[in-house]
Amino acid sequence: MADVRDDVLGAFDGERPPDRALIDDCVHCGFCLPSCPTYVLWGEEMDSPRGRIHLMKQGLDGAPLSDEMVGHFDACLGCLACVTACPSGVRYDELIDQTRVQVERRHPRTRAERAVRGAVFALFPYPRRLRVLRGPLALYRRVGLDRLGRKLSRHLPAALATMEELAPVIRRAPRLPARVAARGPRRAVVGLLTGCVQAAFFGQVGAATARVLAREGCDVVVPRGQGCCGALSGHSGRRSEAARFARATIDTFDAAGVDFVVTDSAGCGSAMKEYAELLPDDPRAARFAARTRDVTELLVELGPVAPRHPVRRTVAYHDACHLAHAQRIRSAPRELLRGIPGLTLVEPAEADLCCGSAGVYNLLEPEPARELGDRKAERIRATGADLLVAGNPGCLLQITAALRRAGTELPTAHTVELLDASLRGPAR
Ligand code: SF4
Ligand code: SF4
Repeated sequence: MADVRDDVLGAFDGERPPDRALIDDCVHCGFCLPSCPTYVLWGEEMDSPRGRIHLMKQGLDGAPLSDEMVGHFDACLGCLACVTACPSGVRYDELIDQTRVQVERRHPRTRAERAVRGAVFALFPYPRRLRVLRGPLALYRRVGLDRLGRKLSRHLPAALATMEELAPVIRRAPRLPARVAARGPRRAVVGLLTGCVQAAFFGQVGAATARVLAREGCDVVVPRGQGCCGALSGHSGRRSEAARFARATIDTFDAAGVDFVVTDSAGCGSAMKEYAELLPDDPRAARFAARTRDVTELLVELGPVAPRHPVRRTVAYHDACHLAHAQRIRSAPRELLRGIPGLTLVEPAEADLCCGSAGVYNLLEPEPARELGDRKAERIRATGADLLVAGNPGCLLQITAALRRAGTELPTAHTVELLDASLRGPAR
């Protein structure tokens, strides 16, 4: 029998090419165009959702997978604002996933691209490897080398300069215990995904998530030995690598015996909710996806029981794309923030437009990511807020770097960190 991969249809081979029926759902109305960050930046049809769908169709009809075509697919942030905007329900999310896997498998990358991608995917999904960087990074910040690094960064290759700019401030966070007991009557047993980048650099967010859940009546299980959920690989077309991470994540949380699997990272939540599509032959995947929750989603589902203390801040809430567009979670974080006495919530203009973070997009496509970051920072500055809040640490790093470029140091927090501050009350 012929290998399906030999069955080449122009740009794509026979192994899960972009689905022609999904492509045909697009009626070319253009309603998605104003929501697409790359179209907003460049005004190029082929850098819009409609244009990219047209390219997929051309590829199925025999056009080769040229560098130019790949460039338009690579430039897509995968933000899925077009899915929200499309009145015809076009599944661009599925189409771009199918396309990226083909591009990853079939398109020869340049040596420089291979080097950046190789480094990113050998490092970021592995919490132990990332943890090794914590000490040097903290030292880098502490002795002020970051100021020098920022000056030198304009002479570095773009991806390295971006990494320098985005490097997080390392905050102390004690390792979470394997179980945090519910305060008061137990309402649910939840497993907390600490993942990869979150575990290594945002331990304080994980700790706040566990404290908030416990105060709201959840036993929080933090399985040892867990790792990346596969989001970074999956959103970049590395399907078999993503499937390997997904299987390991299911094994870990199935063994933990929890009611829900909770994450405080928007990208991880959206990836885990798609496990059934990633692992169609594994009956556990759909069950896992069904009990996956973003932390804000679960907190609203359970309803508040813990008393809130005032937090007198004016907060600009930024919608992470993988929360707002991929998971359709917009009201839950706002409801939680509005439930904090004394807090004023303000909404930046162009809320639907991606900040340019998009997983590892800002490392792989640094120039458009930077432009989008600057645009987002401007909109946030215009709100006059004294705190920026989002449900995804990647967005916070991206916007912080852009604000700094604009000469503004605005404090940032994850939604659960603010909620945690409110539940804990003033320090005594
Ligand atoms: S996913 Fe985002 S960047 Fe990609 S086509 Fe849709 S709106 Fe544009
Ligand atoms: S993707 Fe949807 S909104 Fe965009 S052109 Fe096609 S049908 Fe219209």
